[in-house]
Amino acid sequence: MNGKIKKLVILTGYFKGESYGLLGPQMAATIINSHTDFNAIVVGVTNENDIKDVKTALNHYFGDQQKILGFSSLGGRSDLFDLARELKEQGAITILAGSQAGPDYKGEKGWQSYPHRFKGVSDCFSFALHGPAQQIIPILSSGFDKDISKFDGVLCKDANGRINETPSTDWDDTFLSAVDWQTLYLLNGSVFEPITITTAQVLQQIGCQHAAKERQVFIDYPAGLVKNGPQPSYITICQKGCSFCDVAVDKGYFGGVGEAAFKKQLWCLPEDGDGRKIPFELINESPLFKLSQLFKLADELAIELSQINLTLRADYLIKGLKPLAAALDIATKKNVRILLSSIGFESFDDSILKNLNKGLDRQTNLDAIKAIRQLKSRYPANLGYLKQEGANHGFIHPTPWDNPQISHEINKTISMYQLSHDILPHHSTPLIIHHASGLADWIRQIELKENIQFQRVGTTIGWWQTKEEFLL
Ligand code: SF4
Repeated sequence: MNGKIKKLVILTGYFKGESYGLLGPQMAATIINSHTDFNAIVVGVTNENDIKDVKTALNHYFGDQQKILGFSSLGGRSDLFDLARELKEQGAITILAGSQAGPDYKGEKGWQSYPHRFKGVSDCFSFALHGPAQQIIPILSSGFDKDISKFDGVLCKDANGRINETPSTDWDDTFLSAVDWQTLYLLNGSVFEPITITTAQVLQQIGCQHAAKERQVFIDYPAGLVKNGPQPSYITICQKGCSFCDVAVDKGYFGGVGEAAFKKQLWCLPEDGDGRKIPFELINESPLFKLSQLFKLADELAIELSQINLTLRADYLIKGLKPLAAALDIATKKNVRILLSSIGFESFDDSILKNLNKGLDRQTNLDAIKAIRQLKSRYPANLGYLKQEGANHGFIHPTPWDNPQISHEINKTISMYQLSHDILPHHSTPLIIHHASGLADWIRQIELKENIQFQRVGTTIGWWQTKEEFLL
C-alpha cells in the first residue's frame, strides 16, 4: 500500500480457493490511486466468508476514518447488499458501481405499480455510479459533504426520495491502460491479506458486436403455459444481443480499445516464475482476427506470454479459423498456449437458441465443435479447449422452454456427437433472468397477459416458480 492517508475499499464477490485478478474493480482502484489522494484496495468476499469478519476487518482497516466503500461485481449477493445497508446506516459512504449498477440501484421497471417486482437497492447505497470508473475522480476530489448529484454517471436520491440520474461519460482509453494487479486482497480470519494473482484479464473490446444491432425477437411462451389453439404462443421484444445477456444491455457495443492502451495493459500484467506474463483472458468476443497482432505487440514490448484465454461465439470461431490457425503457428514457435476457455454454445436446440436470440443455430455450434477437434489434432500442445484443460463452455440448462421432445433431441445430439466427453461443462448453468435483461421484458409481458406473478430472487426473476406457488 502507498503512503496516502485517505482510504477506500472496493468490495466484490469472489470464489473460494481461486486467485484470479478482477479487471473492473482493480482498474478502478488503479485510477483512484493515480488520480486522487485516496488509497484504494479491492477485497474479494467469498460465499464462505463470515460477514462479521468482513466488518471486523473493515473496522481495523479504517480505524477512526470515515469508511468509503465501493461495491462492484456483487453477482446479486444479498449478504453484500445487506452489508452495504448496515454500513451506510452507521455512517459509511457506500457506492454501488460496476455492471448493472444503475438498473440495480433504481430497481425493476414499473416496481412502483407492481409491488412484487424488485425494488432496487437504493436504500443500501449512498449513491450509484454507472459507467466508466474515472467518473469517481471529481467526486472524490469534491468530498461527500457537497452535492454530488450533478456529476457524470451518478444516481442518487433527492430530499423527497426521488432518484436523480445523470448520463455517463464516454469510455476513454486514457483510463483503460494501466492496471495495478497488486491491489487485490482476501480475508484471512478477520484481516485483509494481499493475494498474488495467477490469471488476469486484458480488455481489447468494450461490449459485444452482437449487441450492436437492435432487432425484433419472437420469444416462445414457457413450456408450461403454452396453449393449444390457433394463436401462436409468443411474445415480441426488441433486443440488442442475446436475450439473457448482461453485457448486451449494460454496455452494448463501444468498439475496440486503442493500441497504446492495450499495449500498456499487456505491459502491466504480472510475470510468472519464469519471467513470462501470467495467463490472461482476452476480453473481446471476436478476438481471432487480431490474435497474431497480439504476438507482434508482445515482441515490441519485449515481453513473453504464457497463455491467452479466449471467450467467443461459435460463429465467430468458424469465421476466424484461418487467423486462429495462423496465431497457433506463432504460439507453437513461442511456446504459448491458446485456450478456448469459453465458447458460448448455450444450447443444441434451434428453438431455444432462437429464444435466447443467440443469432446462430445448432448446426453452427456443431460445425464449430468439429473444427475445434480437428485443430486440436494439429496443435495438441498449444491449443486447449477441453474441460480437463480448464475450459468451461456455455451451456444453459434448464430453460423455461424445455419440454420432453426438446430434451430428447438435445440428449440425442449430446450422445451422437459425444459432447459430454470434451465440450459440456461438469454442471450446466440454469437460465438466469436479470431484471434488466431482454428476457425480463418477455416475462413481465407474460405476467400481465396471464395474470400471474413470478417470484423475484434478489436481482433476478425466478421463472421456474410463480409467486402463488412459492407462497403455498
Ligand atoms: S452472451 Fe456473448 S455473444 Fe451474446 S450478447 Fe452477450 S457477450 Fe455478446
